[in-house]
Amino acid sequence: MANLIMRFPGGKTKALTLSYDDGVEQDERLLEITKKHGLKGTFNINSGCFPPADVKYAPGTIHRRMPLHRLKEVYDGSGWEIAAHAYTHATLVGLPGNLATDEILRDRKTLEEIFGTVIRGFAYPYGAYDDKSVEILKNCGFAYARTVNSTHDFYIPQDWLRMPATCHHNDPELMKLAERFTEAKNSWHPMLFYLWGHSYEFEELNNWKVLEDFAEAVGARDDVWYATNIEICDYCEAFKRLIFDTAMKICINPTASDLWFCYGEKDVYVPAGARAEI
Ligand SMILES: [Zn+2]
Repeated sequence: MANLIMRFPGGKTKALTLSYDDGVEQDERLLEITKKHGLKGTFNINSGCFPPADVKYAPGTIHRRMPLHRLKEVYDGSGWEIAAHAYTHATLVGLPGNLATDEILRDRKTLEEIFGTVIRGFAYPYGAYDDKSVEILKNCGFAYARTVNSTHDFYIPQDWLRMPATCHHNDPELMKLAERFTEAKNSWHPMLFYLWGHSYEFEELNNWKVLEDFAEAVGARDDVWYATNIEICDYCEAFKRLIFDTAMKICINPTASDLWFCYGEKDVYVPAGARAEI
């Protein structure tokens, strides 16, 4: 029996995504830099924390949340996913279940009304979670939730509601990981680079160059699928639904996603809802 290895759209061997929190002004600059290199990702928003439309921050304020109209101007048309991050950024751990549910579900409902889309992603405020928060997210219809755990690796998450990252952008290993990711060839597993952070941190440490160098190193590559968190999650979950005969000659794709894989020496493409001979 040969190895069966999932490929990303177009048969690509690698995927890369970003995850940035809190809906702050510096996201605009983050979008400019990432767009230049074709990178994409997800913004995690607390919809109960928007400041008034005419907000004026005191000089030197670094954490500057955008008012709703600005947020829409900056994110609309960006191609990035909007995900939830708890209505008031409350830590879920320790909250009574009804209040944790309210934090999660109210954020989802508000963001869905604002952006006219289905919100299925989440990032844990302060990275804090426990089994109860995971259960609530599952019951509220979330597909994945990001922690702040770093793996320094590129595996596809096994548990999407306790999703780790490859690293934070201030991780001293960042550029070494970028090099390992870009130089890897013929990996026996699909590779995912998952970077997270807050864009205000670049202003705080005056290190936008970290993002520019990273985007330059990993961007615009033919072997990488640049996608949002939910696009990657949905693709991986669709892949699990492929149906094979025991001889591994027939593959049926019952999903709405075009899917790719490699079986032994063969590259196989199975269009959505179709059947392929292997
Ligand atoms: Zn946050």
